[in-house]
Amino acid sequence: MPRAWHLKSRPNGMPTSDNFELKEVTLADLADGQVRVRNRWLSVDPYMRGRMNDVKSYVPPFQVGEPLEGGAVGEVVESRADGFAPGDLVMHMAGWREEAVVPTAGLNKLPSIPGIGEQAFLGNLGLTGGTAYWGLLDAAQAKAGDIVFVSAAAGAVGSAVVQIAKAKGMTVIGSARGPEKCDFVKSLGADAVIDYKAGPLVKSLAEAAPKGIDVYFDNVGGDHLDAAFAHARKDARFAICGMIDGYNSGEPMAFRYIMRVIAMRIMLKGFIFTDYMPRMGEFIADMGQMVASGQVKERDTIVDGLENTPDAFLGLFTGKNTGKMLVRL
Ligand code: NAP
Repeated sequence: MPRAWHLKSRPNGMPTSDNFELKEVTLADLADGQVRVRNRWLSVDPYMRGRMNDVKSYVPPFQVGEPLEGGAVGEVVESRADGFAPGDLVMHMAGWREEAVVPTAGLNKLPSIPGIGEQAFLGNLGLTGGTAYWGLLDAAQAKAGDIVFVSAAAGAVGSAVVQIAKAKGMTVIGSARGPEKCDFVKSLGADAVIDYKAGPLVKSLAEAAPKGIDVYFDNVGGDHLDAAFAHARKDARFAICGMIDGYNSGEPMAFRYIMRVIAMRIMLKGFIFTDYMPRMGEFIADMGQMVASGQVKERDTIVDGLENTPDAFLGLFTGKNTGKMLVRL
């Protein structure tokens, strides 16, 4: 019988392996309009931490005792749906498990693009790349000539932001943990990189961006966001994408430089990837070209085996990944 990870209990602070349970599941027989998918790649993402709390948000919370969900790429192994045949590769949201029965409404058939691995649809050509693309170009209205600061720049969304910004003619400053990740961000084309563990961010950003910043792409919140307030130029635009620094703390964030929002007329814009689903075609056309031309490259951190999915997820909060964190089944 196929296995699926279930939420055993709601985490308090940083989750532990005790919050998860791997159990066998019985799959229902296929109804018309459904397919059975065997997963090949699972995505683990920081937003899943929010779904483990029993709070109302932009996606419903996971239920205790039920399987977890998330982006996945798999192969159709049985079909009772028009347009889907065994062997087709599909993307869907029944992740954290080996097999699932999925209705066609929840499936996207993957195109075969020479040189592009199927897992890219969980990375640069999927939620990750789309979040970077729309956050930078629409939420923050970034344009050629802007000085852009992006946090978690060695991560999945951050590394895409660095590369898109460079492809579009911007100056980019990234921040990441430790010299190895900083070298990686530099290799993506960033003009300057801050190791945020090496010293106070307000000082490091002053050195990396002596003229200040026009755009901040926030993946972290906390001291990163505060340093961005401190060094924002007039009419700076902040895309508020995520605040991973606060996902496990339970404490409100404090800001020392937030008053600069007034003097610098800073615009803050929160956004969610799904806001841009109607514009998916536009994204694929432009990002597809940047990927095909090699301007945007994919780096994945791959963890093998369904049993290691919780570890891969937990690793996001301790920086175990460079680029996109994926589980390969
Ligand atoms: P990711 O950046 O690949 O992985 C998380 C990274 O965050 C880690 O590698 C780590 O890098 C860094 N990190 C973890 N804890 C930190 C802390 N306390 N302070 C500073 N950095 C920390 O994950 P991702 O999927 O690309 O997501 C990045 C952000 O975008 C997250 O905040 C996520 O919630 C958000 N997001 C938002 C949307 C949306 O629709 N708005 C969609 C996708 C993702 P270091 O080792 O460099 O610290």
